[in-house]
Amino acid sequence: MANNTNEGKKFLDSVHQYFDHAASYSRLSSGIIAQIRAPNSVYKVSFPVEIDGKVEVFEGIRVQHSHHKLPSKGGIRFSMQVDEDEVKALASLMTFKCAVVDVPFGGAKGGVKINPRTSSVKTLEKVTRRYAAELIKKNLIGPGMDVPAPDYGTGSREMAWIADTYQALKYGETNALGCVTGKPIGQGGIRGRAEATGLGIYFGLREALSDTELLKGKGLNGNSMEGKRIIVQGLGNVGYHAAFFCQQDGAIITGIAEREGGIYNENGIDVKEAFKHRSENGSILNFKDCKNFDNSEEMLELDCDILLPAALENVIHKGNAGNIKAKIVAEGANGPVTREGEEILLRNGIIILPDLYLNAGGVTVSYFEWLKNLSNVRFGRMGKRAEEASYRRLVNAIETSSGKSMTNQERAFLTQGADEISLVRSGLEDTMINAYHGIRDVMVEKNIPDLRTAAFLTAIEKIGVSYESLGIFP
Ligand code: NAD
Repeated sequence: MANNTNEGKKFLDSVHQYFDHAASYSRLSSGIIAQIRAPNSVYKVSFPVEIDGKVEVFEGIRVQHSHHKLPSKGGIRFSMQVDEDEVKALASLMTFKCAVVDVPFGGAKGGVKINPRTSSVKTLEKVTRRYAAELIKKNLIGPGMDVPAPDYGTGSREMAWIADTYQALKYGETNALGCVTGKPIGQGGIRGRAEATGLGIYFGLREALSDTELLKGKGLNGNSMEGKRIIVQGLGNVGYHAAFFCQQDGAIITGIAEREGGIYNENGIDVKEAFKHRSENGSILNFKDCKNFDNSEEMLELDCDILLPAALENVIHKGNAGNIKAKIVAEGANGPVTREGEEILLRNGIIILPDLYLNAGGVTVSYFEWLKNLSNVRFGRMGKRAEEASYRRLVNAIETSSGKSMTNQERAFLTQGADEISLVRSGLEDTMINAYHGIRDVMVEKNIPDLRTAAFLTAIEKIGVSYESLGIFP
């Protein structure tokens, strides 16, 4: 594994600087702070895979940043840019993210240096299975140990291969499917996982937009999503779903920036249609009624209410932060703003909704998937019909006492029991709302000027309590 590229190092430095700044507000001892900051273990592996009759060697890594709670949890990234510092930064963000949203996991992250866009499906399957086997044989993956998930360049298909490899090597283990999340529904996945990060971003943004105190003097009209102009960078899993749910609630998606360039229309872009256009044409450019941008980075600097970077890290930095005109930067991606970039944004009065809170919807629903796998039953399976029978009795009683009958539509609406997708979405919404207010309370209580520092501090204090209660620090 090529170590410490400049981008990876910059990302890790930013995370450390954010952490150190937040830790300066903490009441915890310096020893516990040092333990919370350090990655607990780093495992690097090289393994051979035969491709078209020739052997190629691939490099993989898994960082378990924190074992204060088990299992640890974090995605697997397939990219030629994967390096140790980047994975360490992402693993530590996972630790803090889980703590912020009260998901009882430690943080982890993994990666393999491979280009998923130019590799054949056969190669991807061989590499995924071999990487998984390398981790399984060292007991580094397992439902109670470390549970990977999709990240940049991987998806449900790769997670299914990992689960299958695990089951083959741990034949008969009852909880085996809990070894990885983000699986297809038919292989132990959960309804609502694919859109979870984007939907969580929508819930988080909606909560911030209703926070009159936070938005005071920012020039955002109305305390709702209605009419807010959003520019999104990256129309992948996170960006697409976040933009889709915001648009559904009245936001206007004025710009979409992608790898090949961007499109802009001040009257709004239909996100679903734009996604279809890109899938069919291989490019976002030349979408109806939109202006093309050859350089999509320029789009970050356009006037809008909310800028939603949902592609890569380090895209807002000291070189362009001063030109950002958005009133809110909503971090869909992990680490899209460098520490130097953040200083400039904050100085200019821009609100940053930090990644460790805003994109935590994915890990929250991964937690629900893991719970489902451990209990080996679909959510809602036991209770849905009983709930519906009880609601029917209530509706009957209301009809009898009022002497009025409800329409079939009203009756169906009122007597619906909770199924898996409604339970997942309800749990996600509740999590994002509670976490937002948890961070805001800390911000007010400690007189902290920005949400990221408050979010890091919230996480540090929660993790510190775990370490203190372990009693390993006399
Ligand atoms: P993805 O691969 O589905 O989407 C990324 C998108 O960004 C792609 O459409 C890609 O073409 C686009 N892109 C790449 N380079 C670009 C560039 N230079 N300019 C504009 N667009 C570019 O990945 P994803 O799962 O949506 O993840 C995106 C980010 O969100 C990553 O930082 C990831 O770590 C983070 N994240 C993902 C999840 C999740 O559940 N998928 C959860 C939390 C955080």
